[in-house]
Amino acid sequence: MESLSNRKKVVSDKKMTFVESLYLPAIFSGMSKSFKHMFNKPATVRYPEQEREFAPVYRGMHVLKRDEQGRENCTACGLCAVACPAEAITMKAAERQPGEEHLYREEKYAETYEINMLRCIFCGLCEEACPKEAVFLTDRIVPTNFERQPFVYGKDKLVEPVDQRVDITNRQHTGKRGNK
Ligand code: SF4
Ligand code: SF4
Repeated sequence: MESLSNRKKVVSDKKMTFVESLYLPAIFSGMSKSFKHMFNKPATVRYPEQEREFAPVYRGMHVLKRDEQGRENCTACGLCAVACPAEAITMKAAERQPGEEHLYREEKYAETYEINMLRCIFCGLCEEACPKEAVFLTDRIVPTNFERQPFVYGKDKLVEPVDQRVDITNRQHTGKRGNK
């Protein structure tokens, strides 16, 4: 009887030839394909001994920058948090007290500043929104963890150490925030 869809296939039950029944041609054909791949350039690298070079525009873990005198640039204005599409940034502002001028550049500073790295999509909009050149994305990778809580990064992980500055020259390209 004719099928309605006409997609019916007639399966051949043709007997194998003597050579086919030895399976040798099929085995050699498969082995030759494997052998050919032995001379191709491998697509993988031997990480961590070998590392891939990142693209100059790669966006990784954030840094909160200090100025030349070691003072924190961030003034806790909240623009980065407003710009963040993932709502990954939270902060609490505080007023700079007399005698703290060497710690904070502006009269207001971030008492706490947190980025949830599990929410972050590394879009870089916080960096674009910051009027104080305080937050930048770097080429550093966010380390893995088995727990969720350690992915909430506070100032202890985000503010750059005074004696170990994080290079962000790649991020300060021309045309950004009118730096032409
Ligand atoms: S990189 Fe994007 S998602 Fe991540 S904190 Fe900044 S604005 Fe939010
Ligand atoms: S990082 Fe920049 S945008 Fe975000 S609160 Fe600090 S000064 Fe404002």
